[in-house]
Amino acid sequence: MSNHANQQVKDKVRVRIAPSPTGHLHVGTARTALYNYLFARRHGGTFVLRLEDTDEVRSKDEYTKDIIDGLKWLGLTWDEGPDIGGPYPPYKQTDKIDHYEHFADKLIKNKTAYLCYATTEELTALKEEQKETGQAPRYDNRGRDLTDAARTKYEAEGRIPSVRFIVEEPRMVSWHDSIKGEIAIDTSDLGGDMVIIKSSGVAIYNFAVVIDDIDMKITHVIRGEDHIHNTAKQLLIYEALETDPPVFAHAPLIFDLERQKLSKRKHGESVHIDYYRKKGYMPEAIVNYLTQMSWTHPEEKEIYSLEEAALVFDLDKVSKSPAVFDVDRLNWFNGHYIRQLPIELITERALPFLQDFDLKQYSKEDLEHIVSALRNNLTTLSEITDAARFFFDAKPTIEAEVKETVLKGDKAPIVLKILLDKLSSFEFADPASCKKTVDALGKEIGMKGKDLYWPIRAALSGTTHGPDLGATISILGEKRVRTRIETALEHCCLSK
Ligand code: GLU
Repeated sequence: MSNHANQQVKDKVRVRIAPSPTGHLHVGTARTALYNYLFARRHGGTFVLRLEDTDEVRSKDEYTKDIIDGLKWLGLTWDEGPDIGGPYPPYKQTDKIDHYEHFADKLIKNKTAYLCYATTEELTALKEEQKETGQAPRYDNRGRDLTDAARTKYEAEGRIPSVRFIVEEPRMVSWHDSIKGEIAIDTSDLGGDMVIIKSSGVAIYNFAVVIDDIDMKITHVIRGEDHIHNTAKQLLIYEALETDPPVFAHAPLIFDLERQKLSKRKHGESVHIDYYRKKGYMPEAIVNYLTQMSWTHPEEKEIYSLEEAALVFDLDKVSKSPAVFDVDRLNWFNGHYIRQLPIELITERALPFLQDFDLKQYSKEDLEHIVSALRNNLTTLSEITDAARFFFDAKPTIEAEVKETVLKGDKAPIVLKILLDKLSSFEFADPASCKKTVDALGKEIGMKGKDLYWPIRAALSGTTHGPDLGATISILGEKRVRTRIETALEHCCLSK
């Protein structure tokens, strides 16, 4: 490969999303994944999915699956990672324990790390003492200059050491952040020398992440602002490994309307992407909403697809200030996409919410007509279960109040009788003509508005509101309409 080609490969954008499979895919992680994805696409780069499972206790396969499913559902497909070449999942940190140890040995050799023999009990006692004296919890670097005699004694006691990285203090670690601008962190705020390999042999996140980012030639680390102190620690490790660090960009945190961080404890399942998936949100709406939450489209467009955003996305247009998660606004986006996406797609997505009904009684085309008639009034697709019920029930349940106020009235039998008499004159295939015929019959009997429509709606759907009347008649077809009017008429007579 020529030097020039080498340079091109070197400069090629490589970004990653590195979720820990210790919980379901969080809205914040999805937003970070989205920004990484858009950045990669914008620059013709590579987007990597890496699972950070260094927390052996809390990492679970079910969360790995949820994260993978959620990212795929959102359309944030990765170019390297699970499912793409190699074993599944290829980028698990727990598979690379020896590899991290090798780098830790290198640091021990160049005297930027050391073996620490402090026991859990000793460290807990230290914390207690600091608490009592009102100090911030931190490691007191006691293991940094152990004598050979002390080390031999600890080893004879059977203590298994961890590896700690030396954090020199005081010192400022500073960098130019592609979103936040200039950042400087005082190493005195980093909690003392940090463990990089636990005594169990497992690498700690701040260490593993550096090695992985080096291994994967990551050029830009785009992640949440809550990692700013970690970035300072990681920059120190890059320095000790004599490796150039990637560019860092910290996206603002996401708050609720009361300016509280989005958290499982406060907001329950609504912080998880899966929650929106189950409720029938459109992935296009979530992606559009999350993208515009902290990023401004250069033409200030509000509605755009992932592909459209990828053409113009860059980090300089990402806001520095916190984002606000407002479910009403998300619902606005969702309603928009439910109305605008192709009807075949929305029908397919609606089917899981219609599973309890006997779907076979309608053709595919009619199912699309049902969804089309209902979708204008839906905020989430899950609402279609109740909205569509009357199309499928042999006899729609008539609301008590509707029975009382509409069917018991003196107008209902007149309207329903003429409808029944003239039913054969309806052109059922044409919703607009069905509506016209209803209006014409109304004219004949001197009725319009709710006097005319409510009894018909009550008979057909059991309620006085709902989708377009012409569409409803057309979809139900002659046989169902006849049966429903006959039933409602019986009801009128009984109640008289
Ligand atoms: N596993 C970390 C997290 O889920 C990754 C942070 C990073 O991007 O470095 O927060």
